[in-house]
Parts: sequence; structure tokens; C-alpha cells
Amino acid sequence: MTVTLSPLTLDCDFDAGNIQVLDTRDPGRTRLAIRADTHSDHFQWFHFKASGLTPGQIHAFSLDNAGKSSYNKAWSGYQAVASYDQRQWFRIPTRFDGQALVFELYAQHAQAWFAYFEPYSRARHNQLIERARQIPGVELLATGRSVEGRDIALLRAGDGAPGKRKIWLIAQQHPGEHMAEWFLEGLIDRLQANDAAVRQLLASADLYLIPNMNPDGAFRGHLRTNFNGKDLNRAWQDASIEHTPEVFFAQTQMKQQGVDLFLDVHGDEEIPFVFTAGCEGNPGYTPRLAALENTFRTTLCSLTADFQTTHGYPLDAPGKANMALACNAVGEAHDCLSLTLEMPFKDHDDAPNAVTGWSAERSRALAGAVLETVATMVAQLR
Ligand code: ZN
Repeated sequence: MTVTLSPLTLDCDFDAGNIQVLDTRDPGRTRLAIRADTHSDHFQWFHFKASGLTPGQIHAFSLDNAGKSSYNKAWSGYQAVASYDQRQWFRIPTRFDGQALVFELYAQHAQAWFAYFEPYSRARHNQLIERARQIPGVELLATGRSVEGRDIALLRAGDGAPGKRKIWLIAQQHPGEHMAEWFLEGLIDRLQANDAAVRQLLASADLYLIPNMNPDGAFRGHLRTNFNGKDLNRAWQDASIEHTPEVFFAQTQMKQQGVDLFLDVHGDEEIPFVFTAGCEGNPGYTPRLAALENTFRTTLCSLTADFQTTHGYPLDAPGKANMALACNAVGEAHDCLSLTLEMPFKDHDDAPNAVTGWSAERSRALAGAVLETVATMVAQLR
């Protein structure tokens, strides 16, 4: 029996939505494109809902401009995620032909959501901040403003007493890297659990957390930039209230409070592993900082199979670091252990999961292992 499929209805008019509809006449292969970031040519993040699916049939979606995206080499080995309820997300068969990224869903329901990675919504962000503020010892220390006027929450766990180490974690400078805020949610979950590792850490350190550095970009479904088209993780040498108020806010707060450890949480499009990048190319890099980086990596490796030290970015030559990156700028300004933590859009190939790939849940769990790592290192940071 031949089933005649009806054209689908596509929708991305919601938080973090991004898709442009090119042609829906063939419901077996709906043709789409990814929209570029506002005031920027970057694009890679996509997120949309398809309605009118025929259960029991395969529906294919083609992102026709994927070959021209910001990281077009990253599509090979990548599988898109889908969900019927926006809670359970799973990987679906995906192929890249050099031009188009095509993924297929064997439909079980009449509507489904698709995305580059499990999205972290602004509504969930707002709930997270409220939940964090209810945890004893956690306060909303300051609130910045994005270009479009969205709140940028800075949370502090601890009392800010003199002598405490100051541990900073920021996430989602690159707004399409939603795993970064899932990671921060996992960290806040651990604070709420208030277990032995948390108590050990907070006895001698305060945590400063910015769960979402780029709320405009995240809400608008950007990959890389803020509303002004600026890459925030290239703005740490010349941040301004006008162009990059998000970075300006974080830097101002860091100057006021001080920094003894900085972790900038990201996602990497291409590399199928969790890894960190350090400050080896900074002018002020020292054997002390190298030893701290090594201790962090070795300890985290011993605590989780979802981290490794073999794969990552090429090392910077001595003195050749790009000082516009947060990790390098903060490490140099505060002479502290400073790392970029990268989680994959694909999977962590040392411990692959065929159903979910790298996921929100694994991002949250990794945060717990990072918290335990930092707890063992507090006394060594200065
Ligand atoms: Zn990034």
C-alpha cells in the first residue's frame, strides 16, 4: 500500500528556534536552510518543530546550506537530535553529502522537534536561577544586561569572606553551545545536594557562576554571536558596554571580586571528545600554572570516563596565545588556573552512547566530576 504523505508544517517561532523553510512540497524530503546569526555570517545551530508527520513513515529533512555553515567539516560523523516531547531527545540517522545535511525520522507521532543539540530554553534558565536562589548560601550577586536587555545572572555560592578562594564558571558565551548551560545546571544540582564534596569545597572557596553569558544569542537561535554579531569569546581584550556588554559585565565583576580559578564552558562542533584547553601560550604562563592544569586534568580523568587528555586543540606556542579569548585573558589578568572546557556536539568517543550521543544528562553529570576535582585542588590554587 502506498501512503500519500501531506506536506508538513514547520515552525521555529520559539525560544532558540532557527530554520528557514525552502520547499515543503515533498513531505518525504522537506528542504530547509539554517538562518545566519543576527548581524553575522555565522550559522550552524538549528531547532524547529515539524507537524503533520505520518506515524509509521520515514520523513527526511534536508538542511541545504549545511555545506556553507561555520564549521562545515563538523557535519561528518554528526547525528541530529529529535524529540516528541522536548524532554527525551535521541539521535537520528544523519548523513552529509558535502552540501546538504539530511536526517530521517521514522515517525511515531504526528509532531516532533529537531535540533543541533538538546536545547536549553530561556524558561528553564529562569527556573534555574530561581531554584539556585532558594539554596541556602547561594545568592544572586549581580545582574548584567545583554544588548537587547535580557538579564545575565551572576550567582555566588558562599559568603565572600576574606581568604576564600574564588572559583568562577561561566557558560554559553557561544549561544549555540547549549551543553554549557546544561553543565551549569548540573553544578547547581550538586550545590543543592550539598554533599561532602560540596561542603569540602565551600569550606574554603566561593563559587561565582554565570549560567548564560549570551541570552540574546541563545534566544534567537544563534550559533556564535551576540545580537551585535560579536563573538563574545573574541572580545576579552576590548569589551565595551556598547558592543559586548555581556563580557564587560563579567570582567567588571571579576575585577571587583578576584579570580583564583576560571572555567569557561563550551561545546565543540568537530571533535568527538570532552577536553580542556589551557593557557600555555600566555606571556605570563608559569610552571605553577602548568602543574595546576595537569593536576586538574589528571584528577578529572580519574573521576569520570567522560573526560580525556589525548584529543583536543593544538597547543599554542609560548607567547602566541590569542588574548581575546576569555580563558587566556582571565588566566593572564589574574595569574590563575584558567581553562576552556569543551564538550562535543557529537559524542565522547571513549565512552559512546548510540542512543543519545553526548547529551544534556552527561553534561550535567560531568559538572559533578568537575566540582569534585576542584574540591581536591582548592588548597593548591594559590
Ligand atoms: Zn564555544
